[in-house]
Amino acid sequence: MFELQPLVRKNIWQLEPYSCARDEFKGVSASAYLDANENPYNNTINRYPDPLQERLKEMISPIKGVPVPNIFLGNGSDEAIDLVYRIFCHPGVDNVVAIEPTYGMYKVCADINDIFYRKVMLDENYQFTADRLLESCDRRTKVIWICSPNNPTGNDLDRDEIVKLLLKFQGIVVVDEAYSDFSKQKPLRLDLGLYPNLIVLNTMSKAWAGAALRLGMAFASTDIISLFNKVKYPYNINKLSQEKAMDLLRDQSGYRQHLIMVTEERDRLMSAFAALPICKKIFPTAANFFLVRVTDANAIYRYLVERGIIVRNRNRVTLCENCLRITIGTKAENTALLSALIKFKA
Ligand SMILES: *Cc1c(COP(=O)(O)O)cnc(C)c1O
Repeated sequence: MFELQPLVRKNIWQLEPYSCARDEFKGVSASAYLDANENPYNNTINRYPDPLQERLKEMISPIKGVPVPNIFLGNGSDEAIDLVYRIFCHPGVDNVVAIEPTYGMYKVCADINDIFYRKVMLDENYQFTADRLLESCDRRTKVIWICSPNNPTGNDLDRDEIVKLLLKFQGIVVVDEAYSDFSKQKPLRLDLGLYPNLIVLNTMSKAWAGAALRLGMAFASTDIISLFNKVKYPYNINKLSQEKAMDLLRDQSGYRQHLIMVTEERDRLMSAFAALPICKKIFPTAANFFLVRVTDANAIYRYLVERGIIVRNRNRVTLCENCLRITIGTKAENTALLSALIKFKA
């Protein structure tokens, strides 16, 4: 059976967390707050924000289909990624296993925390198998990183293989579903109850149009969420971000419309790319971007920069030689990209 405690660093398991004024007193109807050394004159931001973001979580819960006690909110997904290392991995001793290529922050945070990072190449279709990942694990492997839809490749990873991994691996499996809004595959976050070793990441930065808020989410068992809450900075999400996030979440029709526009533009852009002489291969995508292999990624990247159009050059990423990653923009931006590329001469 899965046991959490042996996976957690001893100092974290035993940690007595900082108790802030807003933790100790949680009543709603006090008439004088003289407990936190704040400035008492109301300018809307003179008080500390809610350390556990209860109102925001109550809005997120029905939208994501995840109960409030299973939600952690972080200063971007970046905070959740970093906390995974700080909770589970002993610096200089433990290792993690990840698919490659994938999102760069898993490796950067491993390096910052002095954790060994083992890469397992995806196959030529950018897919993986649970068994190949498990072959790279040993008794010091605490975490496996999966990203689906994957960045920078864009595709959904095989859901049955992720489930197989969750059932076979005795450590933590993080599945980053930053792009699941754009995918038709059933998100793993809806099956949280089945897998005590699962952490799912989501973000306000992509489909929800809130990249500047810095608001990431982790969904997991209540035991794992308690560990996140213990280790995070007490007031990790500022009040302005909490309020603005609630504004965005209230506008669900705006969210849905953006999804429709982005997926329509994605189809249009990808069909148009297929007809471009510079286009060698378009990879299938379930995200708001797609990966394309071109005749000369470096030259085309520079050509576009000169015209004020910035795409992501992934030429130096393994398995992505001569590939550009194109984010779906507005209709006008996408049209500008296409007209520039039509005029490109090698
Ligand atoms: C963009 C992205 C995120 C979002 O990170 P934030 O820190 O929440 O902005 C997370 N994971 C992946 C794979 C991404 O591509």
